Amino acid sequence: MAPRILIIGPPGAGKGTQSSNIADEYGVEHITTGDALRSNKDMDISDMDTEYDTPREYMEAGDLVPDAVVNAIVEEALTTADGFVLDGYPRNKEQAEELTDMTEIDVILSLEVGREELIERLTGRRVDPETGDNYHVEFNMPDDEEIRERLVQRDDDTREAVENRLDVFEENTAPVIEQYADHDGFVEIDGEQTPAEVWADIDAAIQAAK
Ligand code: AMP
Repeated sequence: MAPRILIIGPPGAGKGTQSSNIADEYGVEHITTGDALRSNKDMDISDMDTEYDTPREYMEAGDLVPDAVVNAIVEEALTTADGFVLDGYPRNKEQAEELTDMTEIDVILSLEVGREELIERLTGRRVDPETGDNYHVEFNMPDDEEIRERLVQRDDDTREAVENRLDVFEENTAPVIEQYADHDGFVEIDGEQTPAEVWADIDAAIQAAK
């Protein structure tokens, strides 16, 4: 059976990059609440009794979008997925409980990166709006001038939003990771290594869980 994988860790840990590797290598679906919400920033969520009427306000501040909205996104995506890599969910204990009711998980990859490194990665991150590829102003700029010129910064990669996202992670998501530490298939991955090294560890962990 195709593996059911959860990848969890702070913003900027490399979850998106490594999820793409997993999806390519194992042929599983990449389910990501962050991308789903970014494509639907202005959807009307007012019937869910939320403080704001769209996800945009929460996202631009780096706050969590209300649970009812993200739970529905994940539930819908899981109905059609055989194996999957779930990225960006759950982010608090309530979402973790919902997920337990929705599906079993075979592997939990916990990507670990220190706060200073995360701030440097996120505030320097630039995105190609045409391909979604990530770059970094210091460490990884594209050679192609045309691509360089169209790069943009995500609204929530500003210093202020980044600090808030990391605080939100510490307060809400870190306790979920602690709970998962005893779960079958839980593996800690050193996310400060090069992307290739991180991938090698992830691949080995998935193989070991088979
Ligand atoms: P990401 O791309 O995973 O960093 O997510 C970007 C933003 O989308 C977050 O800062 C939140 O505002 C929102 N978001 C993504 N996933 C969730 C989630 N599971 N629960 C609540 N908000 C989320």
